Amino acid sequence: MPSNFYREIINDHNLRPNHKHPLEGPSLTLRGVNPSCGDDITLLLKVENDLITDGAYVGDGCAISQASADMMLDLIIGRSKEEALRLADIFLRMIKGSVSEEELEELEEAAALEDVSHMPARVKCAVLGWHTLENILTIP
Ligand code: ZN
Repeated sequence: MPSNFYREIINDHNLRPNHKHPLEGPSLTLRGVNPSCGDDITLLLKVENDLITDGAYVGDGCAISQASADMMLDLIIGRSKEEALRLADIFLRMIKGSVSEEELEELEEAAALEDVSHMPARVKCAVLGWHTLENILTIP
């Protein structure tokens, strides 16, 4: 697991998520599954004129997958689709280990998952929510 400070952020989002709940009337719904760990989430977004006005997720999985989805929603609610995709790109590059300090700051608490780039077995857990976000926003 990551260092203590980051572990606390991750545990906190896992145990007391801000966005893990059903959402009435979502404009977009997409399920994402990581069979190697058993992570299974469904992302729900409300999008109006390219702006993500609300979002939530439901499902189950390990602490990293659930915390990552929760931190992602903290970051993208209130942003445009384009901005959300840009942040997803930064997050996915962070996990591959190629991100600048400025970009890392933009990820706010989600930067706590940077150490996952050194834990190959957990990479799919960390990126599940973000890949689901990319897919949900780029499906025609
Ligand atoms: Zn997992």
